[in-house]
Amino acid sequence: RFIVLEGGDGCGKTTQIQYLQHWLRQSGWLPPGRSLWLTKEPGGTELGRTLRSLLLDPQALGEALADQGELFLYGADRAQHVQTLLRPWLEQGDWVLCDRYVGSTVAYQGYGRGLDLGLIQQINDLATGGLEADLTLWLDVEVSQCWQRLQGRGQADRMEAAQGDFAHRVRRGFLDLAAQYPDSWVRIDGEGREAIVAQRIQQVVQRWLES
Ligand code: C5P
Ligand code: MG
Repeated sequence: RFIVLEGGDGCGKTTQIQYLQHWLRQSGWLPPGRSLWLTKEPGGTELGRTLRSLLLDPQALGEALADQGELFLYGADRAQHVQTLLRPWLEQGDWVLCDRYVGSTVAYQGYGRGLDLGLIQQINDLATGGLEADLTLWLDVEVSQCWQRLQGRGQADRMEAAQGDFAHRVRRGFLDLAAQYPDSWVRIDGEGREAIVAQRIQQVVQRWLES
């Protein structure tokens, strides 16, 4: 089973994926002898961690990253992740929870940066070799709320992406994806207390596992 969490900056993905991991471990759903892996994009592999620092730290790179260059780096991160970790894990019957996947590239590089959606689909297809998530949970939180959360955490560096028009375009991307893939995408209301949001996610996953 391959479950992905998606959402804009400050939506609470990283917190919620940890709640989900704990809940799944003690839920009894995981078959005996199987592992549950928690991983992320960008940055699930060694290559990915190097790419992540280049993608997120312009100082480390030493020059501005062009939109197309950025797109290919996310693609390289994903290709390495799929080939060296995701596919082997899933092939041996393990379960995987992943913080961001192909949807983020559509939302950020496509809707956010305005790159051609057909090109993004091609790069996603190449990078994944067709490996799709079984369930994608989109954690939806209003843009102004995300901005406040990031501000509270002192993540000033992330705020540019989290505020204004860019963040709204990214959200529109997730909204369209959820509409486009109603069988595998579920929108989760990410507003409210952590524990409440965690319960919403558990209910959705529980129902999905039972179906
Ligand atoms: O959620 P996470 O901390 O992994 O995201 C790292 C940063 O990478 C976020 O600020 C997000 O805006 C950015 N990102 C992006 N395009 C992607 C994936 C992540 O710009 N496809
Ligand atoms: Mg995060």
